[in-house]
Amino acid sequence: MFLSVCVPHENLFNSIAVDIVTQNITRSYDFLPQDRVKYYQIFDHGHVVHVIVMSKQLIVAGIELGGTGCKVGISNEKGEIEERFTIETITPDKTLTLLYNWLSEKQKQYNFKALGIASFGPIDLHQNSDTYGYITQTPKPHWQYTNVVGAFKKLNIPIAFDTDVNAPAMTETRLAGGRITTVVYITIGTGVGIGVCVNGRSIHGLLHPEGGHLKCLKFPGDNYEGNCPFHQSCVEGLINSKAIADRLQIEPSKLSTVPDDNPIWNLQAYYLAQLCAAIVCLISAEKIFIGGGLAKRTVLFTLVRKHVQQILNNYIQAPEIIDHIDEYIVPSSLGEDIGVISAFDLAQEVLKKE
Ligand SMILES: [Zn+2]
Repeated sequence: MFLSVCVPHENLFNSIAVDIVTQNITRSYDFLPQDRVKYYQIFDHGHVVHVIVMSKQLIVAGIELGGTGCKVGISNEKGEIEERFTIETITPDKTLTLLYNWLSEKQKQYNFKALGIASFGPIDLHQNSDTYGYITQTPKPHWQYTNVVGAFKKLNIPIAFDTDVNAPAMTETRLAGGRITTVVYITIGTGVGIGVCVNGRSIHGLLHPEGGHLKCLKFPGDNYEGNCPFHQSCVEGLINSKAIADRLQIEPSKLSTVPDDNPIWNLQAYYLAQLCAAIVCLISAEKIFIGGGLAKRTVLFTLVRKHVQQILNNYIQAPEIIDHIDEYIVPSSLGEDIGVISAFDLAQEVLKKE
């Protein structure tokens, strides 16, 4: 059982009481939280109860800027989505203006203190660069060198910016309450992105991780050449929604109608598993999360896990891979809300630095 307990900032170092009620009997437990977010276990009648303690949060705004659609939201004090607005991603001017206008209107009502933007990439994350806050060399038409952060400057609040995969990777570690600190978040849809959080910090480095562009071994008999304009048959070029749809000779919007037993999903899993196995070997991630439009298909997880075990071939002697891979390669527990909530978390982080 998981419990989430929310306390005001000023009460952070006071004792917290948790009541567990089963069959009309209440049992009370007290403990002292030791940090902003903390994970505890309570042993209640032989059962482990996982308790996540978090301080009440300031109200912030968050944008998930995706290649196909954008979501913007305002948080409440628990960091949940209080109000939201969704639009299709069209041209940069129209998209960013619609998002700005919505936020500008809501600012009067909610007085949010910061904005987090989790964006598709590649993006410039170097604070001293002339193009900081821009989407840079994207294959997406019209969006090359778009100033995303600049479009929201008039809100006059601190703005945090990261990729739409790094931000969810960070949020997944927060949700784990300290149990795991090194995770990878993969998204598969119009592109394939990977976000990496190591020891609780997202990886930027030269640019930011671009694992979707790893080259990989072709599936036996797969004659599709790949559609990445830079590498042709990288993971993204082989398994983005257009690549899968092209093989089936349908439109990407029709992919949801393809049945689970179509062999295309095994082929997709084969390529995705190569990326996951590389992540296990290179980053030693404690958990891999997969999201995005194509990850809504549950059977994909079953197939990816099987291929990952085959590729690693018992070399990585970790129970997470050998015995519990069902809990190792998983969808986000927040489902599709992970994007906006992770943008809220970016905003909370920038407020801490102010
Ligand atoms: Zn590529």
